[in-house]
Amino acid sequence: MLISRDPHVQSVVRIDCDAAGPRVVMFCGIHGDEVSGIHAIEKVLYDLFGGTRLLLRGSLTLARANERAIAAECRYVKHNMNRMFREDYGPEIDRGSYEFQRTQELKPLLESCDYFLDFHSAPIANEPFLVAEQDAVEFYRHLGIPKMMTGWSKFSSGTIGGDTENYANARGAMSATLESGSHFDKSSNDVAYRAAISLLSLLGMIGHDPRPAAVDAEIVEMYSVVTKEFDDFRYAGEASNFKLLPKGQAFAHQNGQAMTVSEDSYLLIPMKPSDTKLHEEVCYLGRKVRRG
Ligand SMILES: [Zn+2]
Repeated sequence: MLISRDPHVQSVVRIDCDAAGPRVVMFCGIHGDEVSGIHAIEKVLYDLFGGTRLLLRGSLTLARANERAIAAECRYVKHNMNRMFREDYGPEIDRGSYEFQRTQELKPLLESCDYFLDFHSAPIANEPFLVAEQDAVEFYRHLGIPKMMTGWSKFSSGTIGGDTENYANARGAMSATLESGSHFDKSSNDVAYRAAISLLSLLGMIGHDPRPAAVDAEIVEMYSVVTKEFDDFRYAGEASNFKLLPKGQAFAHQNGQAMTVSEDSYLLIPMKPSDTKLHEEVCYLGRKVRRG
């Protein structure tokens, strides 16, 4: 097992094993204030460097993605890096910016890996969940995270495209994004660390952990994007992620009118209406996926 710095990209560590195996990449700090993944990845590295765990096959690449935002303890410096992983950029993107340049450095890591996991957390208390596309759901539902969201790529154009996971997924890597809970809750660190260890364990890359049991994760597929079109947009009742929205019942109001769903649905990633600009997405709607 060899631990080395990537010669081409700063703040990227590679752990290589002589025995062939999967090439795994993990990112933390794409958003610099989401510290649980940073703790998790550092702990994994310390485990391997300190000899508590041994990599048995394949390679593991660990990256602190937005180093400047991590140092400044903010989400990003100029551009949201999780909208930057794309081929083409509009005129609104400053090509001289740190985030643009850092993204170009990191892209090749996602173009040549087999599995990719990106670590995030949220500003509000949230139960952990994974985001993965349909072809990766079956694999990642074994990670031990009880809720999963899928179908994001159907909507990943324009303002919500450019995320790391879809970039890697479109290039052949089995990819997922982990939202490990609240930034401020220390248990998010443990959720993130357990997920990293479970992934390596599932792939037979570390030996100490018994193979994690498949959890029957609840999977919800996004089917609609809700945008804030009027200043009076408000949720009906308290908005929470994965909240069940019964058919026909108002889940929000805008322009003085109730908004309802035509089938039982789930509210996904509700954002604060006051922080959302007009014509931007404020939440998503999903339906439960029933597996055969
Ligand atoms: Zn994030």
